[in-house]
Amino acid sequence: MTSATPVNPVEIARIALKRLSERGLPPTPENYAQFYNAILTIKAPESKTATEMQLAWQVLYKLDDAATDVADITDGLLQNLSGSSSVMQQSLGDLQSMREAHAEQRVSPEQAHASLEDLLNVVINTTSNVHSTVTSSHTDLQSIRDSIRHIEEDLAFNRKVLEQDALTGALNRQGLDHLLMREVKRAQRNGARLTAVLVDLDEFKQINDRFTHLVGDQVLIHMANLTKAVLRESDILVRYGGEEFLILLLDTDLKGASYVIDRLRLVTGRTPYMHHAQRIEVRFSAGIAQLRDDENGRAMVLRADEALYRAKNSGRSKTELAD
Ligand code: GH3
Ligand code: MG
Ligand code: MG
Repeated sequence: MTSATPVNPVEIARIALKRLSERGLPPTPENYAQFYNAILTIKAPESKTATEMQLAWQVLYKLDDAATDVADITDGLLQNLSGSSSVMQQSLGDLQSMREAHAEQRVSPEQAHASLEDLLNVVINTTSNVHSTVTSSHTDLQSIRDSIRHIEEDLAFNRKVLEQDALTGALNRQGLDHLLMREVKRAQRNGARLTAVLVDLDEFKQINDRFTHLVGDQVLIHMANLTKAVLRESDILVRYGGEEFLILLLDTDLKGASYVIDRLRLVTGRTPYMHHAQRIEVRFSAGIAQLRDDENGRAMVLRADEALYRAKNSGRSKTELAD
């Protein structure tokens, strides 16, 4: 499953030819195609599918709705506050005139008292009005906060969907880019070891041809499950291509990674996929590279890919280490 993202094909061809000549390999169509595809899969992450884009849009719409609600509430609150403020202003003016009239003895104490009472009523009513507006705005804002919390949950879920391979549940290429960068940075900051393993199923096409593509899919799921069972919780499994997996082993060196892959080989050897009563043996080749101090994640994966290529060329069902 090589994706068709348009990376500059001339550049890829140039790298492929350079690699071939570096290794002293003849540029036969087969050799060329293998290198070209290897480079292509490293360079081009899969593009988003329509469903994934739809999920992202749904979240954006929800965010938009929440923002509109917030704007409506604050508008209402502002209007109410400004109305109340004019009423208060008016009352204050009335109070002022009342005090002057009282001082100049233009009104009787009873009249002054009655007017004061009226004014107080106006002030109390306005205040209580403001209070109820603030209370209802508060409730509205609280419900918006709940919506935003749901949106955050949706975002986390969508991100998981976006970064997961639908068939095997492993991480997909989309998820890898961001994660690889993070893990490389972390390893280099902490002086920790990080190892990449590329696993490619051997002669997988024959499984498809003999048992159909649907059974082939089940074999891929089977293989992903076996791999997850062998890995530690902190290790990362990526569906790197159609029948190709990338494993990132944290805090692990070449020796540790070889041990893990030996175990995986043992487990897959002992656990064929059962299609009705038929055993389908799964074999794989693997290339392992440990992160160097001076390289980025892609360079490490590229070296693992070169090691994998050697494993394939030296008879398959083997593990090769990058130098
Ligand atoms: P090699 O040992 O050289 O790796 O041989 P291979 O047959 O495994 O490799 P090749 O690259 O010739 O073929 C890969 C096959 O994997 C062909 C393709 O149809 C199949 N494949 C890729 N993606 C999927 C998938 O998602 N499901 C199934 N069932 N098959 C897939
Ligand atoms: Mg392959
Ligand atoms: Mg293969």
